[in-house]
Amino acid sequence: MIKKLTILWAFTALAAGTATAQDIEPVNTLFDTSAWIELVTIDPGIQLDLKYATTDNFVKEKLYDCPRCFLRSDVAMAVRNVQKDLRRKGYGLKMLDCYRPLPIQWKLWNKVPDPRYVADPRKGSMHNRGSAVDLTLVDAQGKELDMGTPFDFFGQEAYHDYTNLPKEVLARRTLLKETMIKHGFRSTRTEWWHYSYTKRSYPISKMEWPCDGKGK
Ligand SMILES: [Zn+2]
Repeated sequence: MIKKLTILWAFTALAAGTATAQDIEPVNTLFDTSAWIELVTIDPGIQLDLKYATTDNFVKEKLYDCPRCFLRSDVAMAVRNVQKDLRRKGYGLKMLDCYRPLPIQWKLWNKVPDPRYVADPRKGSMHNRGSAVDLTLVDAQGKELDMGTPFDFFGQEAYHDYTNLPKEVLARRTLLKETMIKHGFRSTRTEWWHYSYTKRSYPISKMEWPCDGKGK
């Protein structure tokens, strides 16, 4: 059954003249789960550790009121298929960030207005479109695995072409990358944890999820 829920929209006005104005979804009061999926509803086995819902992130500030992982439907289904493949090999996924509402991108940008670390909200990040994920690997017992650096580590050790790491770490990065690419994602050179969905493009969204009702 398709459930719909009312979304609390942020009516934060965009700065005048931003390039994204025509690329932002029109304000809508219905949140249709045929367009968005909360990942936990299709695979409760995928772990969540959404760092921007905690102070354990590079800006040391809680940016989400509550940790919920929403993605565009096709993107969520692709992540579920990645999880299925990894399960067969004794691994699983832990999500570190999913869809990130545009108002949150502005908060991040206002704290760190440096395009090397934060996407300019006037252009928007793939996370603002609901088509990017930050994730890492866990083992069959659900224990997070060493991937060489923490999430949001801004240095060459996090690059895909950095090879001065233990063999097991390099093998895990390769496993994650190959599995993500198989299911329609592409990697980014400087962040082992970031993947963007390539099969479809989506507009930037300002939708902010509610913290009560859990999508019911
Ligand atoms: Zn990312």
